[in-house]
Amino acid sequence: MPGITAEQLDEIDFRCFYTRAAIPARALAGDPVRYDSAHAILLIFYTNIKHIIQSMISIKAIPKTNRPLDAPVGRILEPAHNYNARYCSSLKEKQMNQGNNRKIALSHMKRGALCAVLAAFSIAMSAHTPLFAAARADNSAERNTATVQSGQAKYVFLFIGDGMAMPQISAAEVFATARSSKDVNITKMSFTRFPVSGLATTYDAGTFITDSASAGTALAAGNKTLSGVINMDPGKTKTYKTIAEYAHEAGMKIGIVSTVTLNHATPASFYAKVPSRSNYYDIAVQLADSGFEYFAGGAVSQNTGKNNDQPDAIERAKAQGYAYVNSKEGFAALKPGAGKVIAVNETLQDDGAMPYEIDRKSGDLSLADYTRKGIELLQDNPKGFFMMVEGGKVDWACHANDAGASIHDVLAFDEAVRAAVSFAEAHPRETLIVITGDHETGGMTIGFAGTQYDTFFDKVALQKKSFIAFNSDVLSPYKKNTPRAQARLSDLIPSIKDAFGLDYNGLSDFQKEQLEFAFQRSMGNEIERPVAEDRYLLYGGYEPLTVKITQIMNQTAGIGWTSYAHTGVPVPTFAKGVHQELFGGYYDNTDIFRKLASAMNLSIALQ
Ligand SMILES: [Zn+2]
Repeated sequence: MPGITAEQLDEIDFRCFYTRAAIPARALAGDPVRYDSAHAILLIFYTNIKHIIQSMISIKAIPKTNRPLDAPVGRILEPAHNYNARYCSSLKEKQMNQGNNRKIALSHMKRGALCAVLAAFSIAMSAHTPLFAAARADNSAERNTATVQSGQAKYVFLFIGDGMAMPQISAAEVFATARSSKDVNITKMSFTRFPVSGLATTYDAGTFITDSASAGTALAAGNKTLSGVINMDPGKTKTYKTIAEYAHEAGMKIGIVSTVTLNHATPASFYAKVPSRSNYYDIAVQLADSGFEYFAGGAVSQNTGKNNDQPDAIERAKAQGYAYVNSKEGFAALKPGAGKVIAVNETLQDDGAMPYEIDRKSGDLSLADYTRKGIELLQDNPKGFFMMVEGGKVDWACHANDAGASIHDVLAFDEAVRAAVSFAEAHPRETLIVITGDHETGGMTIGFAGTQYDTFFDKVALQKKSFIAFNSDVLSPYKKNTPRAQARLSDLIPSIKDAFGLDYNGLSDFQKEQLEFAFQRSMGNEIERPVAEDRYLLYGGYEPLTVKITQIMNQTAGIGWTSYAHTGVPVPTFAKGVHQELFGGYYDNTDIFRKLASAMNLSIALQ
C-alpha cells in the first residue's frame, strides 16, 4: 500500500482531506463524477484496511457450547493453527476446529483477494494523483491540536491587522502593562489568548516583501500575485474569486470593515479585481456593485474619479439599494433590517481614513463600534455571515515609525476582537474568529542599541498625538505662518512636549543636533519629499522633524525600526471557535483562504 499506515488513517481529517483532494483532482481529470467516486472508494478502503488486516490474522469466536474450557472468549488475535495446538485437546475439538479453520481460510482468501484488488487500484490512483501525498502532509501539519468539531462555521470573523506581526502585538502587550507598572510582565491581547495559534508566510509572487494588495489577494482568494495587483494573476489577465464572494453566493451576509478607506488595498481584496491598487475609482464602482451587505469605517476615496470627472460611485451604490450614512446619528439609527449599508466615519483624518486611535475624540466611533454594528446588522440571517475587519492604520503608523500610534491602534483592534469574542460566547458552536496580519511594517522591534537590555515603555504613554495629528495641528500651521529666516526649533519645543512627552533638556547633544537638523529640513521645503538617499534613510517620505521626534522617543523607550516600508517576516495567526484547529502550524498565507473555505464548508474551485 503506498505510503500510509493505520495510525495515519486515524490522523486524516476526512472532510478536509476530501475537499483538498477532490477539488484539484477534478481539475486534473476534467471528470468530476469518476474522480469523486474513485476518491470515495479509496477513503473507504483506507478506513477499513486495518480491520481487514486484523481479521486475516485472527479466528472467529467459537460458540460457547463448543469452546474448549480454557480458551478465551470472543475474537482471538492469533493464527488458527496456534489456537488449535494450544486449546484443542480432544480429537472432537480438533476436528471441529479444523472445520472452522477451513471456513476461516476461505473467508481470508476472499478478503485477501478484495484487498489485493483495492491495493492495486490504490497504487494506480496514487501514481496518477500525487496530490494525496500533499493532502496528507497538509493535514499532519495542521492537525496538531484537538479533533475537528462537527458542523460548519456560520459566523466567521477574519481580523487583519495591516502591518501587524509579532513586534506590533508584543509592543502593545508590553505597553498595556508598562504604562501602569514597572513590572516585567505583559498583558495579553484578547486574541493572543486564543486556543490555537500559527504562523503564515507573507511573500508574494514577485518578492519576499509583499504589499497589502498581493497579501490581500493571498488571504482573500488563495493565490499569490505581484505587489500592487488585486485578485488578478501576475499576468493581469485572469481574475480570482474571493472567499467573501464564495460565502455570499452560499447565502452568507458579508461585512467589510476598515479603519482606512473602504476601497484601500486590504478591504478591496475581498470584493474587487484590478490590475493596480491605485485604481481607486474602479474599486469604488466594484464596491457599489458587490452586493455585500455592510461596508463601514473610512471613506470611499476618489468616488468621482481621480479627476472628479466620473459618475459618483456612492450614487451608484445608492441606486443599487445601499443606505449611505456618514454621521454618528445616522450610524446609531441603523437597525437590523436596514438593508445594504455603507457607513463612513463622521471624522476623517489622513486620506479619508478614520483617525488614529490615539487621536480619536471621546464619543467618536471606534473600530469596535463598527464591528458591533456589523454583528447587529448581519446576524439575522439563517446562513450566517462573514466579516472582515481591518486595523489598517497599524501599518500607516509603522511606515512613519510612530510606535505610539501603532500601539494604540493595536489596542483598538483588540477591542474590536473583543466585540467578536462576546458574540462568540453567545454562539460558541457556530462562530469562528481568525486573526492575522498581512505583513510586518517598519522592521519594528523591542530593543535598541542605545538602550541595550532596557526598555522604558512608560515613555510611550506620554505620547498624546499621532505624527499626522502633530503635523496638521502644529507643524503645518507653524510652517505656514513663520518666515523661514525667523523659524526656531525652540518655538516648537512646548508643543513637542505636549504631543510626544519629549523632554528636550533631557536629550543628549547628539539627539539635539539630530532634531535641529531635521527641523531645518522641515522648514526648508514646503513639499518635503526625499530627493537624496540620505534624506530617505533618515526620514522616509515624511516630515523630517516629526519622524525624528518619534524615532528619538521610540529609541528612548527601547523600540527600534529598520525601515519605512514592509518587511518579509512571517505573521502570526490566532483562531478561536468552530474549526479553530485548522489554523495551527506554519503554512502559506494562501492557505488561510482554503482553511476559511473549509471551515465554512464552501466548495471552492481551483483558480
Ligand atoms: Zn503598508
